[in-house]
Amino acid sequence: MQIEKSVVVVGGGPAGLAAGAAVARQGVDVVILERQGEIGYPIHTSGGSWISELKALGIPDHLYHPVGTAIFLSPNREVAFHYPDPVTCVIDIRGLYQYLAQQAIAAGARIELKTFAQTPIIEDGTVVGVTVKDRLGNSVQYRSKVLIDASGFSAIIATRAGLRKNFERYGFGAEYDLYAPNYDQDRVYLIMGSKVAPAGYAWLFPRGHCRVRVGVGILKPDADAEDARLYLDEIAERVPVLAPMLASASPVEYHTGLFPSEAPPEKMVQPGLVATGDAAMQGSTLVGEGIRYAINAGRIAGRVVGEAITAGDWSPKALGRYEDEWRDTYLRDLQIAWRINQRIARFSDRQWDKGLDLLRRLSPDQAASLLKGDFSPKIFFHLVTKNPSLVRTLMKYSLHALLPGKEAKEAKPQPARSSVAPGAADGV
Ligand SMILES: Cc1cc2nc3c(=O)[nH]c(=O)nc-3n(C[C@H](O)[C@H](O)[C@H](O)COP(=O)(O)OP(=O)(O)OC[C@H]3O[C@@H](n4cnc5c(N)ncnc54)[C@H](O)[C@@H]3O)c2cc1C
Repeated sequence: MQIEKSVVVVGGGPAGLAAGAAVARQGVDVVILERQGEIGYPIHTSGGSWISELKALGIPDHLYHPVGTAIFLSPNREVAFHYPDPVTCVIDIRGLYQYLAQQAIAAGARIELKTFAQTPIIEDGTVVGVTVKDRLGNSVQYRSKVLIDASGFSAIIATRAGLRKNFERYGFGAEYDLYAPNYDQDRVYLIMGSKVAPAGYAWLFPRGHCRVRVGVGILKPDADAEDARLYLDEIAERVPVLAPMLASASPVEYHTGLFPSEAPPEKMVQPGLVATGDAAMQGSTLVGEGIRYAINAGRIAGRVVGEAITAGDWSPKALGRYEDEWRDTYLRDLQIAWRINQRIARFSDRQWDKGLDLLRRLSPDQAASLLKGDFSPKIFFHLVTKNPSLVRTLMKYSLHALLPGKEAKEAKPQPARSSVAPGAADGV
């Protein structure tokens, strides 16, 4: 059987749903193929995010749980930031993804569930569709003018069509979604150190109604011998401060997932094919955050593809506007995040302790900006002038790119603030 569509999207995750909606908004016919039987299930993510960014994307506030306190633990340190007006949140994943699906459908897209995309159809070097196994086990060909690969970590079409290679570096995460009546729903924890998550970190993300996602993520191959699942099962023993909060808790769901952790992409387009979201390595490697990035990248991709088809020119040059817009929006910050990730993945316990000594010196707003991956010159000018010894730390770790050019040269390092031991930051 053969089905013709102007645009076929592979993957009904945040990138694919956002892309499908954006294509349909241009009045272009589009189908989204999803291999699972339900949008937003099973869950392969933790849902930590930022309220202002979700608001900017138009996500309704009933789809996330705001959290006012962020606590960082290293082997011998604890640093807490309090936000009377919460900045961070934990997403209701199934709720958000189904909301994005409804938006796509309302715009005119069709979603096909239990439909597994297999192989790109390539003619004269151009992707012209994809072979699919449908719900009844039939082989179907979907023919397209443009195919959007939003299949997440598998990047099944992009890799098979030669747009990119399989991911070689990635985070493997294992997580329980617990019913935990003693857990404080206003606290997120990020926990670092070799006993808890070598080359990675553990998290506790509350999502309301006594539910909390507790997970461990470990980077491969950086810590190849380590298994996140074993660390997860022992987390309350390995981090005794958590034990009272997890008393009487028990899992309601168990999730695992893979997050690509490589350099930002160079290419996202080839003839007839566009990749977006994790399939294009568009998330931030800083803390392994990709949902808001996937939604926005999917929207840019879908809009550009829809406009190109409406204009009758979907050549790589026309589709390349998507790459340009994405790079202008994200590339600089994501490159910096990637450099930091490569550094901190190798941190020893002592370096994590010193890292938290440095973190402690930031204001809550500064800490939030950095964790969000906002490395704009304005933020750094502010940081460097308030914490001059940061300049030395950043230079030491070859993170010059973080520094605002002219302003950094003018910001002469001053003695460290008296409440912190001189040079404390330099050991990070
Ligand atoms: C353990 C873990 C924790 C994370 N925690 C966070 C977090 O706290 N905050 C955050 O922002 N990000 C987090 N991320 C990252 C985030 O989940 C991803 O960046 C995001 O889901 C990417 O969206 P996507 O649409 O590109 O891909 P996905 O969400 O992976 O969606 C891809 C979709 O494509 C479908 N699909 C795949 N192959 C096929 C096929 N052949 N045919 C049809 N359909 C197919 C899949 O079923 C899926 O629905 C985490 C990731 C992991 C692994």
